[in-house]
Amino acid sequence: MTDAIFSQTSEAVLKINTWKDIAPEVVAGFTTKQGGFSNLPFFSFNLGLHVEDEIGLVSLNRKKLSNEIGFTTSNWVCSEQIHDNKIVEVTKQHLGKGVFTYEDSIKNTDGLYTKETNVLLTLCYADCVPLYFLAPKRSIIGAAHAGWKGTVKDIAGEMIRTWGCDENVDPRDIFVVIGPSIGICCYIVDSFVIDAVNKVLNINQITPYALISDGQYSLDLKMLNQLLLVQAGVPHENIQVSSYCTSCENDLFFSHRRDKGRTGRMASFIGLRGGLNT
Ligand SMILES: [Zn+2]
Repeated sequence: MTDAIFSQTSEAVLKINTWKDIAPEVVAGFTTKQGGFSNLPFFSFNLGLHVEDEIGLVSLNRKKLSNEIGFTTSNWVCSEQIHDNKIVEVTKQHLGKGVFTYEDSIKNTDGLYTKETNVLLTLCYADCVPLYFLAPKRSIIGAAHAGWKGTVKDIAGEMIRTWGCDENVDPRDIFVVIGPSIGICCYIVDSFVIDAVNKVLNINQITPYALISDGQYSLDLKMLNQLLLVQAGVPHENIQVSSYCTSCENDLFFSHRRDKGRTGRMASFIGLRGGLNT
């Protein structure tokens, strides 16, 4: 299966192809599980340092991604993700954090943004929703990790509100891509999750879930994030949603649910290319 937003540029890398016109300086994408050095159950392009894979192999995988996308690892920034909604502005002082040592990551943070060029924001996933943010008029970029917990804590809306309060960005000038994650086809949750979904959604004309049996629902996490972005003021037409399901696409992606917890991590990445020192 192919996707209208993410183009596969090598066996290991998918790139967002829809922002070229509005922001050619943006390098953004998502990794696959192919083309790396790790062994089962992390075979082979595992980019997570925190999943009991060999650190040396994860480092090789990270260097491979660095080479492929032309962003040196010393300009990467990685965070310790805890399924919450905290957003951190990344500056040059954070460069290199968490790239080869997990303990050195930016702590307790699932959302990152920057106004700096030549900084690569990276986050890790195995089913959770990758969010990519762009305000092209202001050259601000962001990334967030939204599993069900981060989603119902409205990390998507938090990014929009943070840009509004701290950077004076109008939500109507923000573009968002919602990347590959577990799809409604494969994501079953209980009523505890659905209660939290109903609490966070104000505009409730569209329901991003369906009852499938007593107390069991299939939930569309991508659509829920899309609704929360619209709720935060982002125009519907500025939001693009990947059709990839990480659980269905066994050849391309790790999936925490499908692989029963023992699996690798894909990475999202976004950076602004600029100047001579890329
Ligand atoms: Zn699926």
